[in-house]
Amino acid sequence: MGPFDWLPHAPLEPLRLDWLSGVELAVLRLDRIDPLISGNKWFKLTGHLAQAQNARGIISLGGAYSNHLHALAAAGKRFGFPTVGLLRGHPQDTPTVLDLKAFGMHLHWLGYGGYRARHEPAFWLPWREHYPHLHPVPEGGGGLAGASGCGVLVEQARAQLQALGWADYDAWWLAAGTGTTLAGLVLAEAGAHPVYGALAVPDDHGVAQNIGAIVQAGYELLDASRGGFAKVDPVLLDFIDTTQQTCGLPLEPLYTGKALLALKAQVEAGRFTPGTRLIFVHTGGLQGRRGFTG
Ligand SMILES: *Cc1c(COP(=O)(O)O)cnc(C)c1O
Repeated sequence: MGPFDWLPHAPLEPLRLDWLSGVELAVLRLDRIDPLISGNKWFKLTGHLAQAQNARGIISLGGAYSNHLHALAAAGKRFGFPTVGLLRGHPQDTPTVLDLKAFGMHLHWLGYGGYRARHEPAFWLPWREHYPHLHPVPEGGGGLAGASGCGVLVEQARAQLQALGWADYDAWWLAAGTGTTLAGLVLAEAGAHPVYGALAVPDDHGVAQNIGAIVQAGYELLDASRGGFAKVDPVLLDFIDTTQQTCGLPLEPLYTGKALLALKAQVEAGRFTPGTRLIFVHTGGLQGRRGFTG
């Protein structure tokens, strides 16, 4: 399969919010790369697709709101390769799952126990036998391949600095789930600018280990999970509403909302001096928001 000569462009836009008090912020809008294929998941996938040249399609796994499976299924439909999704839990028709079906992804529901076994060495064996022509991609499109696919984001942002009137920038700020996207930025920066990761998951999810397997330095992780992955609270929802109303930036509560709210706390705590220039990565995920807003 492939090569795929579709490299979407992520716009870099200035963001004006009262609480920035002198800190300058630009958003790299991965939510705007395409009407269907949204967010960091496409960039992560490109690294895996590059390794799948001898395969006919892709098999991967995720939950019933998975942004990764959504991007994969949409790409399969767009570029005409078969996709198989292994899902956590029992069959349910979330808006995401309905899309996966409409995009033609073939679904298998693994239950909860079956899904938990995904890190065991033997997990893939029966699937490899059943689908010998499909290339397996780990959860969320992670690993070194996924990180490598994100390096191009650094180039894209740098190419747009001049239009913002910026000679340079000081650091990156983004949500981290597995930390793969962050690792990709750190790799591409090679020490030129630090990358801050706002953790959307609790500490014990192994993010530091995931990242440490790819890069050793050049980043910092901060807790932004607000009590757990996918836990929402009124302060967060109100912040998302206010941000959308004041500057039109749509956020979702799992990753991007928590990441920007964590930045606000750091700015208010005086971590960044006025004049500091930060690039916030909008990692997308807006399709998953349908599960929370009905
Ligand atoms: C998956 C996802 C993330 C986390 O990306 P990682 O590379 O796993 O850290 C962040 N934001 C959104 C919207 C996502 O869908």
